[in-house]
Amino acid sequence: MSELNLILLGPPGAGKGTQASRLTEDFGLPYIGTGDLLRQHADEGSELGKQAKSHMDNGGLVPDDLVIQMILDKIDEEGDDGFLLDGFPRTVPQADALADELEKRNRRLTAALLIDAPDETVIRRLSGRRQCSEGHLYHVEFDPPKHEGRCDQDGKPLKQRSDDRPEKVAKRLKTYHEQTEPLKDYYDERGLLRRFDGTRDKVEVHDHIRATLATLRLEERL
Ligand SMILES: [Zn+2]
Repeated sequence: MSELNLILLGPPGAGKGTQASRLTEDFGLPYIGTGDLLRQHADEGSELGKQAKSHMDNGGLVPDDLVIQMILDKIDEEGDDGFLLDGFPRTVPQADALADELEKRNRRLTAALLIDAPDETVIRRLSGRRQCSEGHLYHVEFDPPKHEGRCDQDGKPLKQRSDDRPEKVAKRLKTYHEQTEPLKDYYDERGLLRRFDGTRDKVEVHDHIRATLATLRLEERL
């Protein structure tokens, strides 16, 4: 048995999304992003989706047990050999609940992959992002368009997503430090944490993660 049951951790802007899409290709793992999962259930009008929607419509958060149920359904459908979970858990109680549910299925996490980056890197990366209405992405400092404020591909104006505005970024970071950062210690104490330097080039980070996972797989087989 060499399942790869993985979760991704790290602040916004550390490059989790990029690494997730590469890893799912490398290892043929289903990517379970909780944001996508919630949208999918809402679009399909599933029973869980309807329940989640009623909470969101009332301005509340979707309860943990609903999200976990969606995740487990997806794991049961596609995750026999493993999965890559992104966006959950975000808090210690969620991590406990996930561990309990996995244990009921005789499964456990293989690793928690932390892609870390200091606040100043996150702020610099996110606040410089610009996007056209077709979704083409630029960065004012690292990947600027040929003509300022215009998309190279279609000439449409480039805008900043509201999530990337400085005050929003600061808020996202604050939430991350308060709620999610304690998960570093949580998974470290359980021997599951693997750290990666999100300030490095994404190809380097990818290589490092792949090497780490290959080692984990070998260890599982021994
Ligand atoms: Zn464009």
